[in-house]
Amino acid sequence: MKNKILRLYDALYKYYGPQYWWPAKTKFEVIVGAILTQNTSWRNVEKAVCNLRKAKLLNPAAMKDINKKNLAALIMPSGCYNIKAGRLKSFINFLFRKYGGSLKRMFSQDTAILRKELLEVKGLGFETVDSILLYAGQKPVFVVDAYTKRILANHKLISSGDKYHEVQRLFMESLPSDSALFNEYHALLVRLAKEACTTHPKCEACPVRSVLWSPAATPRYAPFRVRRHPPKPNLPAGRQAR
Ligand code: SF4
Repeated sequence: MKNKILRLYDALYKYYGPQYWWPAKTKFEVIVGAILTQNTSWRNVEKAVCNLRKAKLLNPAAMKDINKKNLAALIMPSGCYNIKAGRLKSFINFLFRKYGGSLKRMFSQDTAILRKELLEVKGLGFETVDSILLYAGQKPVFVVDAYTKRILANHKLISSGDKYHEVQRLFMESLPSDSALFNEYHALLVRLAKEACTTHPKCEACPVRSVLWSPAATPRYAPFRVRRHPPKPNLPAGRQAR
C-alpha cells in the first residue's frame, strides 16, 4: 500500500507536473479562499476574493472592522454568503482573541494544538482547517477531500465509508512528513479527479491506470469493464473508424 501511494505520486507528477498551489498572494488570502471554497467552484471564489481585494479587506485588521452584512454582500459570488461571512468573522475573532490578530504568531503554535483550536472555530471542518495548515502555514498535514476518496475508493484502497482521519492517516503514514510533497500531492489528485477520475471515470485515458491497477485491487472502472462496444480497430493517426 505504501509503495502504491508513493508510485501514484510519482506517476501524477511525471504526467501533470507542478500545480503551483495555492493560487493566492498571501497567507491570509489562502485562509479566506479555504473558507469561501466550501461547496462552490474556485471560479466563484475568485470573484469573491476579487471583491475583497478591491475593498482592501484582504488583511485581518480590515476584515475585523467590516460588519458582517457588508462582508456578506462582497462575498456573494461564492454562495451561502451569510453563512460564509459568519465563518470568516468567527475565524477573525479567534485570530484576535488567541493570537492578537497575528498569523505569524498563530502559525508558530504547535501544529496539533493549532489544528485542535481551528477545528473549534464555528464552521471550519477538517478539510478547511487542514488546507489552512498546509497551504497557508506550510505545516505537513495531508488534505483529504471528496476527490481523494473517490480515486482511492475506485481502486479499493479505501472503503467509500472510511472517515476523514483514516484516509489522512493512510497518506501520512505512507509518505515522508513533507509539506511541499503534501501540497503537490493533493493538488495533483484534484487535477486527476477533474480530468480523468470524474464521476464517470475516463479510465482509458487515465495517466495513472497502470499504477493503480493490480489483480489484488481491481478498479471498479477498469477499462475492460466500462467498454460496452467492441473495440475499434487501430488506425493510423488522422483516420477515423466508421
Ligand atoms: S484508472 Fe479509472 S478509476 Fe482509476 S484513477 Fe484512473 S480514471 Fe479513476
